[in-house]
Amino acid sequence: MIVFDILSVFPEMFQSTLGNSLIKRSIDNGLVEVNLHNIRNYTRDRHRTTDDTPYGGGGGMVMKVEPVANALKAIVPTGGKTPVILLSPQGETLKQKIVEELSQCSRVVLICGHYEGIDERIREHLIDREISIGDYVLSGGELPAMIVVDSVSRLVPGFVGNSDSVLYDSFSTGLLEGPHYTRPREYENWGVPEVLLSGHQKKIDEWRRRESLKRTLQRRPDMLKQVDLTEEDKRMIQELVGDSELV
Ligand code: SAM
Repeated sequence: MIVFDILSVFPEMFQSTLGNSLIKRSIDNGLVEVNLHNIRNYTRDRHRTTDDTPYGGGGGMVMKVEPVANALKAIVPTGGKTPVILLSPQGETLKQKIVEELSQCSRVVLICGHYEGIDERIREHLIDREISIGDYVLSGGELPAMIVVDSVSRLVPGFVGNSDSVLYDSFSTGLLEGPHYTRPREYENWGVPEVLLSGHQKKIDEWRRRESLKRTLQRRPDMLKQVDLTEEDKRMIQELVGDSELV
């Protein structure tokens, strides 16, 4: 089981994501718990202010440090084991390795920035880690937080009906996954690779491995440098490189 505590000024944004599909089922089954904390509830002023104009001028509003600090004091258990993560376009880019690491935690705190960004003192004093979902800027950290919750929860045992499917997902093996097919066997003259219908499991496994290597070679050759390849993998790659299909 894993618990996510999410700090946001727009907690309602999470309702549709958390209320559907596998994540909903996992929350209902107690595998995943998501606590949404409205940062506004941790303000101490009459107007419940969470943001203010930037010192030095310039456009946009900046999220204030006190409400976030108050929320963390109230939420994060003492003892220092819970990672406090700020979603930020300036953070380390989310990769499956980070997802795997976070899935080992029993609790994760996610802070969603908004507006022009956050007071730098939040970054300097209150967080352990900054995570970006890619080199582009969104208007808030809520969508990135949902991406972290979904990708990490997927690895919680029981989240996906067949846990094998997670083992062979793209990136989990260090490769991209190969193609999938399902019924009908023929659609508009578009067939299915014969081997998948053969019932010969060893041949199917070999085909899947080859397709996975082929796809990685075509789309993400950089990944092949990071993965431990067997002699058989290397032989398949040699064959594929000489294969005109790949050009
Ligand atoms: N002015 C900031 C900058 O240039 O770095 C961007 C602020 S952005 C408009 C507002 C908030 O959205 C950020 O504080 C962060 O929480 C979130 N955010 C935007 N893009 C993100 C990304 N690629 N990954 C993670 N969080 C992001």
